[in-house]
Amino acid sequence: MTRRCRFAAVVFLSLTLSLAAGCAGRTAPPATAPTPAPAAAAAPAKSALPDSIVWVRTSVEYRAVTTQSYRLAELMLDRALADRRWTAAIEQTGDVGSKPPAVILDVDETVLDNSESQERDVRDGAAYSEARWAVWCNERRAVPISGALEFTRAAAAKGVAVFYVTNRDRALEQATRDNLAKYGFPLDPGRDTVLMRAERPEWTSSDKSSRRGVVAQDFRILLLVGDDFGDFVQGARGTLAARTALDEAHAAMWGVKWIALPNPMYGSWKTAAGQ
Ligand SMILES: [Mg+2]
Repeated sequence: MTRRCRFAAVVFLSLTLSLAAGCAGRTAPPATAPTPAPAAAAAPAKSALPDSIVWVRTSVEYRAVTTQSYRLAELMLDRALADRRWTAAIEQTGDVGSKPPAVILDVDETVLDNSESQERDVRDGAAYSEARWAVWCNERRAVPISGALEFTRAAAAKGVAVFYVTNRDRALEQATRDNLAKYGFPLDPGRDTVLMRAERPEWTSSDKSSRRGVVAQDFRILLLVGDDFGDFVQGARGTLAARTALDEAHAAMWGVKWIALPNPMYGSWKTAAGQ
């Protein structure tokens, strides 16, 4: 068969099949139309993940933002080291130049990624609870936030003390330390650098100001890194208007002395918005 004949045969066969399919479609409709499945049965609401969790769990964009935040932190660390009057903590006053340098980081959604527990709550149809949170923390399954390991290791290599100030309860300290150590986050064996909520009687509040104050007694605080306004200021749990005023009063700090990580899943922003 010549190439032209083969082409004609293929076209004829295609037309025949198309016509046959068309005729079948017109002459043999289904006896009854399929009944649409109820929406609830198709996708149980509890398994539908909100965009915030999908973004953190899967997106390149989330990893890009945390990576660039930590790269910015590393640049600012060098500036801060070179300027002996520099301090990032509002709680720190007086002459700070003679104190050794430190950075303060939050833990959850700042150095450790707990989005798996957020997903688990949704899939189980369960609301957040202290008990469920403790189960998750004790599993030690949280993974590093992109950029956090590189930054904290670089800081430690420059002789900067790395403090973690977290609102995890003091009962979770060992699990938290184990989870951080599992990935090689710097932990000073000679000093308590993981400051938990309620670890001291005066630290029962989730407000971190008093813990920053304790670090400020002995160290010059170069940078604060966190995902919640409360990782930087006292009063983050106020109204939207109060938070905005507080932010405006300290606008010069962002990206210089204060490095913020994104957390669209939870935080004081959500409470303030009445969510
Ligand atoms: Mg946090």
